[in-house]
Amino acid sequence: MVDRLTPERRSWLMSRVGSKNTSPEIRVRRSAHALGLRFRLHRKDLPGTPDLIFPKYRVAIFVHGCFWHRHQGCSKASMPKTDVSMWQAKFERNVERDEENISKLTMLGWRVEIIWECETKSAELMKQRLMSIFSL
Ligand SMILES: [Zn+2]
Repeated sequence: MVDRLTPERRSWLMSRVGSKNTSPEIRVRRSAHALGLRFRLHRKDLPGTPDLIFPKYRVAIFVHGCFWHRHQGCSKASMPKTDVSMWQAKFERNVERDEENISKLTMLGWRVEIIWECETKSAELMKQRLMSIFSL
C-alpha cells in the first residue's frame, strides 16, 4: 500500500489519536521496566499529567512527540506548508504549556526529563538515556 500522507499530516493524525499509550511511550516504559525501575503512569494530580513518574527518584518524565512539542533541530519538527500562522499559534501554546508544567513540577520538587519520540527508536540508546537520568 502506498503511503500518501505527508509527515506533517501523519504527525497531526497521530496527535489526534490521543496522547496516552502511544508507542514511543510504550518503548520508554519497556526500557524502564527492563532496568528494574518502578514507575507510575499519568498521574492526573500532577501538573501536565506526566507520562511516567519515578517516586523513589522524584523524577517525572514526559515522552514528547517531536512534531507536536517542537523538538528543536529535529527533522520531525518541520513546519507545515499551509496555514502556517495557525500552526505557529498552536505550537506556541503547546511549548508554553510544556514550560509551565515543567516549572510547576520543579517547584513541587520533581526533576523533569523530556524524552523525545525520536530518541525512543533505538532500544540501546533508550536504555543509555534512562541510565544517565537515573545514574545507573
Ligand atoms: Zn525529535
